[in-house]
Amino acid sequence: MIDLKDFEYAELEEFIVGLGEKKFRAAQIFKWLHEGVTSYDEMTDISKSLREKLKEVSYVSTLETECKLVSKIDGTVKYLFRLPDGNCIESVVMRYHHGLTICISSQIGCRMGCRFCASTIGGLYRSLTAGEILNQVLFAQKDMGERISNIVLMGIGEPLDNYDNVVKFLHNVNHEKGINIGLRHITLSTCGVVPGIYRLANEDMPITLTISLHAPNDEIRDSIMPINHKYKTDELLKACKYYKEKTNRRISFEYSLISGVNDSFDNAQELADKIKDLQAHVNLIPVNKVEEREFKKGTKAEINSFLKHLTDCGVNATIRRELGSDISASCGQLRKKTMNIS
Ligand code: SAH
Repeated sequence: MIDLKDFEYAELEEFIVGLGEKKFRAAQIFKWLHEGVTSYDEMTDISKSLREKLKEVSYVSTLETECKLVSKIDGTVKYLFRLPDGNCIESVVMRYHHGLTICISSQIGCRMGCRFCASTIGGLYRSLTAGEILNQVLFAQKDMGERISNIVLMGIGEPLDNYDNVVKFLHNVNHEKGINIGLRHITLSTCGVVPGIYRLANEDMPITLTISLHAPNDEIRDSIMPINHKYKTDELLKACKYYKEKTNRRISFEYSLISGVNDSFDNAQELADKIKDLQAHVNLIPVNKVEEREFKKGTKAEINSFLKHLTDCGVNATIRRELGSDISASCGQLRKKTMNIS
């Protein structure tokens, strides 16, 4: 059986025509799917006979809300969605002055092995389909009763390790007949899968790219991010330069500050020197505690002095505002607890 949300628009048209129907039916069906209907019977302008035909060869995928937590501090909503195969994924909706932003997952688990990250404990179970990635946006939007205007692919998983499905999802979520979220309102975060960055740069899709850098040199990066054994920091920064030139989009870097590992004055200096040419923005994240991991965040003063040194060196940097701190909103932890992963 085919999940119709795994089709791109042109593929859906082809499929519908293949069933002996008129092309414009695809537009109607695409619109319904992207409104988040959960069955063919809700597609009221589609004839009963076509609905029956569709039911025989395809289905409308859905997500169950296993758990929903709402932060009392800032209204951040965390969803734990259950997939039909029993697996769970996390999505988080945050309220900013410019509207609602959703942080979505691209895989069930992750095989990148970053030492400080909860999502990779237990490894990769499987990648999500394009429809499953999209469903997080559709179901959260429906539940919130408000338009979601921004998407960040910063939840569980490495989006560039699920390249084809992620790109399919991007085409669909940006489609004018669907929910039509502008590519400039979409951010993809990667731990540094260099070939994926080049591929993405050549897709002609001006999404924002953010790199989980977390270290100013190979020695530190090797020790906390296994991907660095494959693609070294300089190679990664070269790919960033290419992405920036090709898409005209500013790159940003995530830098989780881990006490005694990557947060010294010298580390700030080296980081500033390395990325100066890119005129990138740096998001500093005081590392979140993960039960199984020994990493600690520094004091407020240490974090502020790292920030000050970067800024003094002419780097545009900010400390990431912590949202949903009362509902452990950062991804990976809730799924791990619920699914009993260790
Ligand atoms: N795989 C992608 C998408 C995940 S994004 C990537 O690595 O970019 C999630 C972000 O949170 C990444 O920047 C990741 O490095 C960071 N992160 C993971 N665990 C963290 C922790 N315990 N504290 C702070 N940041 C963390």
